[in-house]
Amino acid sequence: MKSLYIHIPFCNRICTYCDFTKVLIKNQPVDDYIEALIKEMKTLEHRDFETIYVGGGTPTALSVKQLEHLLSFISENFTVSGEYTFEANPDEVTTAKLDLLKYYGVNRVSLGVQTFNDDILKVLNRSHDFNDIFRSIDHLEKIGLNNYSMDLMYNLPGETFDDIDTSLKYVEELKPRHISWYSLIIEPHTVFYNEIRKGRMKIDDDNKEAEKYIRVMDGLQNLGYPQYEISNFSVKEYESAHNKTYWHNDNYYGVGAGAHGYINNERYYNVKPVPHYIKAINENDSAVKETLRLSETEMIEEEMFLGLRMTEGVSKERFRMKYGVCLDEYYKEELTSLKEKRWIWDDGLNIALTDSGRMVGNEVFMRFLKSS
Ligand code: SF4
Repeated sequence: MKSLYIHIPFCNRICTYCDFTKVLIKNQPVDDYIEALIKEMKTLEHRDFETIYVGGGTPTALSVKQLEHLLSFISENFTVSGEYTFEANPDEVTTAKLDLLKYYGVNRVSLGVQTFNDDILKVLNRSHDFNDIFRSIDHLEKIGLNNYSMDLMYNLPGETFDDIDTSLKYVEELKPRHISWYSLIIEPHTVFYNEIRKGRMKIDDDNKEAEKYIRVMDGLQNLGYPQYEISNFSVKEYESAHNKTYWHNDNYYGVGAGAHGYINNERYYNVKPVPHYIKAINENDSAVKETLRLSETEMIEEEMFLGLRMTEGVSKERFRMKYGVCLDEYYKEELTSLKEKRWIWDDGLNIALTDSGRMVGNEVFMRFLKSS
């Protein structure tokens, strides 16, 4: 088994754009949740992983005692041969919490920076400010947890090209090993969605968003961060191994409220919210709400969608080994037409998106749909 994802759905503050499975931590049954999580982890058939990722919500919203309980269980019951990542918010990175992460073998931190502009951080209702970002990175460096990903966003309300340049300037100064830089997506049921619907807020149109994306890609490329996925960049050998499990369409477990996993051609989805999850685990030792067995055609489609997100694209050899068919034959017509449009390139070993293909990614992905 390659990977394990552990979901901590608690946050100290709710961001205005967020549609993840999360809840304000205040008055939540956090201890009961951790016990349920441990119970669910005990049912897993595998113990040895290449990567573990603890995400949320915000895992660093847990108290030191709760963190220790969770981390000690993981270290006593599982092994992780590679990347062990913890998501963190800059204002929650205390010495006591970092000491614990280090002690229990966490070797990578994904830091939710989003932007260096304090006014925009307020609009996003983030719990941290500009100074917290530098303080937390200083802590990480001092403790030796310097393999961190700086997580940023663009296309934010009120954001200018200068804000992107400012973020690039701090990337150059702070030198994170890895950067995730996603465009803001306005999701239903968020504060932002309602504000836009009521005409009280505006974000950039598609053209300006594309210009900003190009600014991000070019800026990071110039700073020595090659792009290895649509929204991810890293210095050599620091690509996220855990996320590559997803993009390679490999197997992983997901535990926690609303978590999902992919095992033996089957995707499963856990119940949410938190009280339903705790109840399900305590009554049945399982919180799986739904399973979806994929047909061979669907597996291949997902292999293409996910693989084409990466700069390296989809390996023809890997495709043949997994599905017993030749990629060139299976998608003969589609590949011919996409090559004519110069949306994909083919070096004989891999096929991948070109720069112009990346700008129309969804249109390219749709071409690989055969099941509908
Ligand atoms: S901290 Fe993260 S998970 Fe929590 S509300 Fe903000 S974006 Fe969502």
